[in-house]
Amino acid sequence: MTILLLAEIQNDQLNAATAKALAATAALGGPVHVLVAGQGVEKVAEAAARLAGVAKVLLADDVIYAHRLAEPLAALIVSLAPDYDVLAAAATSTGKNVMPRVAALLDVMQISEITKIHAPDVFERPIYAGNAVEMVQSSEAKKVITIRTAAFQPVGEGGSAAIEKISGGTDSAVSRFAHEEIARSERPELGSARVIVSGGRALQGAENFAMLIEPLADELGAAVGASRAAVDAGYAPNDWQVGQTGKVVAPELYIAVGISGAIQHVAGMKDSKVIVAINKDEEAPIFEIADYGIVGDLFTVLPALKEELAKSRR
Ligand SMILES: Cc1cc2nc3c(=O)[nH]c(=O)nc-3n(C[C@H](O)[C@H](O)[C@H](O)COP(=O)(O)OP(=O)(O)OC[C@H]3O[C@@H](n4cnc5c(N)ncnc54)[C@H](O)[C@@H]3O)c2cc1C
Repeated sequence: MTILLLAEIQNDQLNAATAKALAATAALGGPVHVLVAGQGVEKVAEAAARLAGVAKVLLADDVIYAHRLAEPLAALIVSLAPDYDVLAAAATSTGKNVMPRVAALLDVMQISEITKIHAPDVFERPIYAGNAVEMVQSSEAKKVITIRTAAFQPVGEGGSAAIEKISGGTDSAVSRFAHEEIARSERPELGSARVIVSGGRALQGAENFAMLIEPLADELGAAVGASRAAVDAGYAPNDWQVGQTGKVVAPELYIAVGISGAIQHVAGMKDSKVIVAINKDEEAPIFEIADYGIVGDLFTVLPALKEELAKSRR
């Protein structure tokens, strides 16, 4: 059983999602090759080669992979597929974009967002916004899987895999990268943060995110998250959204502020180790999954909390 894992590259760096997806593939019991595709990504390949458990890194450095458009990337993976039993990627925007195309081109089904590998052909994955877990057995000759990274601890470093350069494929030129708008932040990335402070509709405006949620996050070295209601209302940018249609996270500490705990939000954070809820409605569903809850007005609780945190630091 040989496994090809697509490396997740973000801002020209190897993203932590790759180390988590690697931890998942370990259960498949075979050599794992990591595919690094991009332009000017030699450093990324070196970082991938250092990850524990990587047998080989395939480096496809070519302008046609510069923005990881689905068409050329899927064609590349399909061209490599004859040598592999499992084609895997983290269930990130890139993985979700590319892998179903790979599956269709190979005429196999894809198994999405797996959270556990029981056997090389038996996988667990959540359905119904995380309210049921289904165990599926795949009889496909080649398995195409995406991995829910929040369910796995990243592997460490210590590997020294060989890097093999592979030549770029041809570009079907059916799509073209136009431009991107990247939200730059000094805070930890939502997907790999150990602590997340999330705000909901109750924040009432972007200025309150800036005045209350963000300083608390900075005090805790946390990433900032948001509910869809807060995003839709323009209080927070789209890439902060946690939930079924946003990011799925599982930090050590998740602080939900003014978030009711709708099923679609909970789907994205219920696997957090410790959940703290601050809400003025004691009947809010978020309290059903919170380990610690404060029933109170966030506009008085948050400043008090921040003050206490600052005191404990002095
Ligand atoms: C297909 C689909 C996909 C969806 N995907 C997502 C998703 O990915 N992520 C997501 O979050 N949602 C998602 N939703 C939306 C979801 O159903 C909820 O509408 C949303 O999560 C509600 O956000 P909220 O908790 O911020 O707002 P509300 O439900 O309005 O809750 C606000 C909470 O704040 C409390 N509150 C008000 N004032 C204060 C105060 N001063 N102090 C303290 N507490 C206060 C209230 O008691 C209330 O509990 C999805 C919905 C659908 C249909």
